[in-house]
Amino acid sequence: MANLVGQHDQLKDKPKDQPTSALFPTYARYPISLVKGQGSWLWDDQGNKYLDFMCGLAVTNLGHAPEKVKEKLKQQLDELWHVSNLFQIPNQEKAASLLTSVSCADAVFFCNSGAEANEAAIKLARRYHQKVKGTGRYEVITFNQSFHGRTLATLTATGQDKVKEGFLPLPAGFKTVPLHDLDALKAAISDQTAAIMLEMVLAEGGVLVAQPEFVQAVAELCKQEGLLLIIDEIQTGMGRTGKWFAHEHYGVEPDIFTVAKGIASGFPAGAMLGKEYLREAFTAGSHGSTFGGTPLATAAIIATIETMKEDDVPKLAAKASEYLFAKLNEELKGNPFVKEIRGLGLLVGIECVEPVGTLVLEGQQRGLLFINAGPNVIRLLPNLYVTEQEIDQAVAIVADLIREHTKVKTV
Ligand SMILES: *Cc1c(COP(=O)(O)O)cnc(C)c1O
Repeated sequence: MANLVGQHDQLKDKPKDQPTSALFPTYARYPISLVKGQGSWLWDDQGNKYLDFMCGLAVTNLGHAPEKVKEKLKQQLDELWHVSNLFQIPNQEKAASLLTSVSCADAVFFCNSGAEANEAAIKLARRYHQKVKGTGRYEVITFNQSFHGRTLATLTATGQDKVKEGFLPLPAGFKTVPLHDLDALKAAISDQTAAIMLEMVLAEGGVLVAQPEFVQAVAELCKQEGLLLIIDEIQTGMGRTGKWFAHEHYGVEPDIFTVAKGIASGFPAGAMLGKEYLREAFTAGSHGSTFGGTPLATAAIIATIETMKEDDVPKLAAKASEYLFAKLNEELKGNPFVKEIRGLGLLVGIECVEPVGTLVLEGQQRGLLFINAGPNVIRLLPNLYVTEQEIDQAVAIVADLIREHTKVKTV
């Protein structure tokens, strides 16, 4: 009979070099345990200090433990953490009106993650066509190399096969076409099409910046065909690209856009935002989330947005971006290992001619945290308050790594 003693015996029999973790192995984790963060810096459990140029993947946009968000959360912890969305939640109302005050949207639905925000966007697009317009349309067209999340619907929307492996069957109602191919997009539109969804910078896909003429043509096409334009701002939003939301660079207004990552400085939260005419598509009970927009989560959102407004953080990001690009070009222009330096604001990609995985690890050993975007692209995501001195430090390390790598190759 299986009993606890037996299970412990099995654990003891495991080879010593195999770590026994109670977690599913869904991540290839680096051998670093980070225990403290302040501003641009992180410390591990050995006392090593790191300059953070990944920010939990575009999450801690205001740096680690930003003072005003921390104070607001502490205050809210003493007052009230959670109530059901069946009650009035003043913090949620305030967070929504702040979000609509800094964007082209009129209404907000709060959830807990990016995938959930996109899931809500897809549901709203279907509801609008089916309940308001009465067209029965349901299909969403997305683009190759895109990333929209890990739920079944959002991984189906994602234009990368690797996230779909082993998860068949996928939900119906999605089509993916090549980016910047207007003819393929037009050909994919049918009388089932409800919406087109895209990112302004395909961040996970390799920091691919969408061309303005293409984005404007997509927006125009949506108007002509009666389709909703959904823009995924989960990585590009909240000041990351030097504007509140990346679509502002393109002169287009989405019907729906989604935000998460940087929205609450590291507190888990997401939001789906839409235009006034979409409001009636959702009625009481048509969508919901237990934890979406709790007093605690929306306190973090309020403090994040108020801080961003006070300090004009998108402008700070735009300024730091200019400096970062200038430095990178100065240090790396003409380097044979570097194919292209690109991006928008403080979402920066350095495409290299070979995989960059070892550079990421070597960077960690030299005290700089950054990440790749696809195999060959170094991705830099500093916080939006990053100083010129910190940029100098980071670029020096990245440039050294690349130069040393190039030297080894040519010897
Ligand atoms: C991270 C990300 C998502 C998914 O967000 P989660 O919070 O991990 O669910 C979706 N779209 C884009 C563009 C992202 O960068």
